[in-house]
Order: sequence, then structure tokens, then C-alpha cells
Amino acid sequence: MKLYSTKNNQHQVNFEQALFKGLPPDNGLYMPSEIPQLPATFFAQLPELTLPQIAFEVSKAFLADEIPEQVLEEICNDAFNFDVPVVKVEEQIHALELFHGPTYAFKDFGARFMARAMGYFLKKSGEQIHILVATSGDTGSAVAHGFLGVENIKVSILYPSGKVSPLQEKQLTTAGQNITALEVEGTFDDCQRMVKAAFLDQELSEKCGLSSANSINIARLIPQSLYYFWAYGQLQKEGKPLNVCVPSGNFGNLTGGLFAQKMGLPIKHFIAATNLNDIVPQYLKSGNYQPRPSIATISNAMDVGAPSNFQRMEALFNKDWKAMTSAVSGYAFDDDATRQAMVEVLKHQKYQLDPHGAVGYLALADYLSDRPDEIGVFLETAHPAKFHEVVTATVGKQPEIPTPLLQILDKEKHSLKIPAETEALKKYLQ
Ligand SMILES: *Cc1c(COP(=O)(O)O)cnc(C)c1O
Repeated sequence: MKLYSTKNNQHQVNFEQALFKGLPPDNGLYMPSEIPQLPATFFAQLPELTLPQIAFEVSKAFLADEIPEQVLEEICNDAFNFDVPVVKVEEQIHALELFHGPTYAFKDFGARFMARAMGYFLKKSGEQIHILVATSGDTGSAVAHGFLGVENIKVSILYPSGKVSPLQEKQLTTAGQNITALEVEGTFDDCQRMVKAAFLDQELSEKCGLSSANSINIARLIPQSLYYFWAYGQLQKEGKPLNVCVPSGNFGNLTGGLFAQKMGLPIKHFIAATNLNDIVPQYLKSGNYQPRPSIATISNAMDVGAPSNFQRMEALFNKDWKAMTSAVSGYAFDDDATRQAMVEVLKHQKYQLDPHGAVGYLALADYLSDRPDEIGVFLETAHPAKFHEVVTATVGKQPEIPTPLLQILDKEKHSLKIPAETEALKKYLQ
């Protein structure tokens, strides 16, 4: 697989290099030089295929020249060993539940695949690396869980102090072993900026063997395209045009969906749903891309003011705003609307949304309101129990909390507090 930098298409690397580098030295993002087309037979078979089978076919199309097929098959079977139900919420609307993995959020898909791919290459080379990752909540726990105990890999996770849920914080700070949690006295954007700066310091980056696990890493995007195929396969029997709504922050999940569409999956339209951090919906409306400081909301995993995958979205549409707007519509909702959706959908449909899924539900319902002959699926990106404080305060009833999550609450937090300064991170790394 060949990849180029969005800032310089002369800069080319293979998958292994992009996997470990994370970011190109020119501050662009790695993009596949070519997105493989999957054969018609594959799409016809989709309703009968399991998720690991779909994962194997898709990842093989990208990676067969660098990872032996047999290894890829093992990775897919092992990484995607949990359920991904498609649940009918109301007549035209389905939820794609991506939260049945070990950390109860969709980021398990990317992190588990990436950890196993890295494990394969490191075992071959015998090298050691240090993974640096900024999280607004769920990335960190998925990475901590995905990489826990993987040999030759050290992981440091930066999270904004006081800005992740208590449960998320416990998931980040209780893993132990090769995982360290850095509690940054600042925002998620600070964490992201510090990580970027560390990577751009080439000397430091090489000395420490720095590598990234954020949604900027291409190894997270490939597995994030899989469940779009799966959802399509599950809903094909409805025989209606399928729209997909993605609650978005850094837009890695949506970019995965765009990859799936490019591979030939007949998704009719994408709906990008955000909270008040509506940088991309604003861009879709006006053609002006204006990142700004993030605002805190109850769907905090989407509190992103400078979405890191935007460059990739632009690249997929050749920087053509018109082309992007014909494939993707943007919607934004505030916390009041989000809370109201959680209340109403529980009351009428008996379905408990988490705050992120609620934003997705709202956008999809809006989009479908004048399209009676189409259907849609929104990505339910986290288990409601992960945000049980907000859910309970909103609907007046505590969601059922899975036992493994309850157990983690009793564990003792271990974190290292650092100021929101690049220098502090560099000192820690040295
Ligand atoms: C990370 C996350 C999102 C946003 O996904 P992006 O790929 O960053 O757009 C949405 N919901 C939850 C629960 C998340 O953890």
C-alpha cells in the first residue's frame, strides 16, 4: 500500500512507515495513493458475511502486499470478536451499535486493529516504540486497552484534566503496565497541539521512537470503514436508499465511511452531526473553514475545534467544496436538543441514546423528515453507561451499567499532572 502526504504528494511511504510515523514530517496527513475497488461479488455477499470476514476482505485489499493474508485473517478474527447490532429505533431510523467492544465505544475498532498490526511489524523487527496519544475521552481508553501488555510498546496518554467523565478517567488511569496517563491542565486542543509539536520535533521523535495512535493514524481509519459495509449488509433487505449519519469530532469515523463509499459501497448520502463545535457543518454551509477553540458540551468526545481529519476529507473531494456538499450534509445541535432527544426516544421508542448517539439521531431524523422513501442508520458511538451521569440526570433513570465498568470505578487512579505546555511534555519524554 502506497500513501502520500496531503501537503506534498511527492512524499510517499508504505503502510508500515505510515503506521509508525503517524504524521508526515510536513504536517500533512497520510492518505492512500489509491483506494481499492471491491468486486461486485463482495457487495452481493455482504448480508451473509460476518464482521471479521468483511474486515479480512477490506483490509486485504489495502494491505495484502505488506501483511501476509493469514496474519491479516488472524488479526481480524481477534480484533473484531464482539457484536455490532443494527437496531431498529423507528420506522426509517436504525442505530448501528458500535459500543460492544471492551471499552464500550467505537474507538475499540481502530485501536485493536492498530495494536495488532504494530505488534506484527515490531515482532519482525525487534524494535521498541513509544505511543503518544491525545484523548478527549474514548480514544485513550481504547488505546490503553488495545495496547495493554503489548511487548516493545510504551504508551503515554494525554487527557484534559476535569474534562473527561469520571468513568473515562478511570479507564485511562488504571490500566498500569506499559500505559501512563498524563493529566494535562488544559483543554483537549492543548493536548492535541502538544502531541503534534512533539512529533514535529524530529530529533526527539526519533530518539524516543514516537508513534501516534490518534485518529490521524491511517491504521485507525481502515478498520473504521468496516462497519459501514456491515450495516449496509444488514439493511439491504429493506430495499431502500441508505443514508448514514456520523456523530463527529475529529471526523476520523466519517472519513472511514467515505473510504467505504470510495471502495464502492452504495451509501446514498452522509450526514455529519456535531454538537456546538460545528466547524465542519459551517464549512459545508459557507465554504469557509474556520477552526476555533472548542466548547465543552455533554457529548464531550466530539468537543473538537480543529478537526484533525478535515484535510483528508478535502483530499477525498480534491478540495472541491461543491463535491463535498453533494456527498455530505452537516447538522449541529446544542445540549438542550441533545437532552430532549434522549428523553423523547427513551419515552416513545424505549431506546436509550448516549449523548453522542443522540446528536446523530437528531441529525438523521432531520435529514429524513422530507425523504419518506429512504432509510438511515446513525452510528451509536458509545454505551450510555459510559456517560451515565449525564444520562441519569437527563432521563431520571440510571442506565444499566455493565459489570466490567462497575469494577473499574473501584480502582485507584494513577496519573501524572503536567501543565499545558509543549516543553513540559518534551521534558517528560526525555
Ligand atoms: C471519538 C468519538 C466520537 C467522534 O469521532 P471522530 O472520529 O473523532 O469524529 C464520537 N463519539 C464518541 C463516543 C467518541 O468516542
